[in-house]
Amino acid sequence: MNQHTKNRNSWLALNGRKLIISGPCSAETEEQVLETARALAQSGKVDYFRAGIWKPRTMPGSFEGIGKEALIWMKKAKEETGLKITVEVATPQHVYEAIKAGVDALWIGARTTVNPFAVQDLADAVEGLDIPIFIKNPINPDIKLWMGAVERFKKAGITRIGLVHRGFSFLGETKYRNRPQWQIPIEMMVTYPDLPMICDPSHICGNRSLLQAVAQKAIDLNYDGIMLEAHPTPDDAWSDAKQQVTPTRLHEIVDSLVLRESRQNDDLIQNNLELLRGEIDEIDADLLAILGKRMNVAKRIGHFKKERNITILQQKRWEEIVQRFIDLGMKQGLSREFSIKLITAIHDESINNQEKIFRGED
Ligand code: PEP
Ligand code: MN
Repeated sequence: MNQHTKNRNSWLALNGRKLIISGPCSAETEEQVLETARALAQSGKVDYFRAGIWKPRTMPGSFEGIGKEALIWMKKAKEETGLKITVEVATPQHVYEAIKAGVDALWIGARTTVNPFAVQDLADAVEGLDIPIFIKNPINPDIKLWMGAVERFKKAGITRIGLVHRGFSFLGETKYRNRPQWQIPIEMMVTYPDLPMICDPSHICGNRSLLQAVAQKAIDLNYDGIMLEAHPTPDDAWSDAKQQVTPTRLHEIVDSLVLRESRQNDDLIQNNLELLRGEIDEIDADLLAILGKRMNVAKRIGHFKKERNITILQQKRWEEIVQRFIDLGMKQGLSREFSIKLITAIHDESINNQEKIFRGED
């Protein structure tokens, strides 16, 4: 293990292992909490048992958590299984209740990291406490907000800080619930070489099928651990049902992770090519999704023209489009020649589609 890796997860004392945090998205009932904790503890591979007690939900009316009553269940789970426990805190009152219940680590959710007022209130609330704090990335891809949260907790004297990468929200179609944008956590690792980086594939993926691949990618990038949601009957979960797995499946995923020599991993980080290629692939997918959307609008125009018996090619409109494309392209550093080629190809495809509509084939 090289110096970089040794420094990065030093407070976790992992000795080459990966930190595993698991548990349900939300604490729902005492039975569900205890059943999950027992099943997760059996393997000896889980370090922290997690559960949301207070749930920041995007929409009102969704299940907003049991509240402090569930802390009693968490405490029981800890006493019975020996697992350390962690909960999300979003207000100083949450911190107070969690500490009182003997919670071993706190985590800051993505919807809190975005808000410097809330983060400062939490930093003030933990000042002087010796407790580990995991900070999730903000929901939007703004690395400064993530760094700001780290700085606020550091200033409050917190020495055991962990970073949790849970992906970034994105308007548009993507195979992920929250796009990973790996270059952002990588930049955090470079900026804070002493802070462990944990991946949360559950909230990145939003569904079970991609969890294993995302977890492995994080391991390949030399992350220090994984946070994965587990529930005894995932489909019945009161929140995030699609992305949760049974404790059995959780263990299968953890067991399947292939650990690699950190030497190679560091090369991977230094060799930005891999990451940049990943970025290109994501951008290409976005480009095609946007082109698909554009084509749908062109088809609607085709139907409109057909109904009103208007010609497909409107010369004046076409000239305007080309000029606009050239101007916008120049602002993006794209050559005039390229912009013309691109819009001509897109326009040809639109015309082909509109012709099909005129022929009654679409
Ligand atoms: C969670 O961990 O259940 C959660 C709410 O996560 P996030 O803050 O990443 O959305
Ligand atoms: Mn969740």
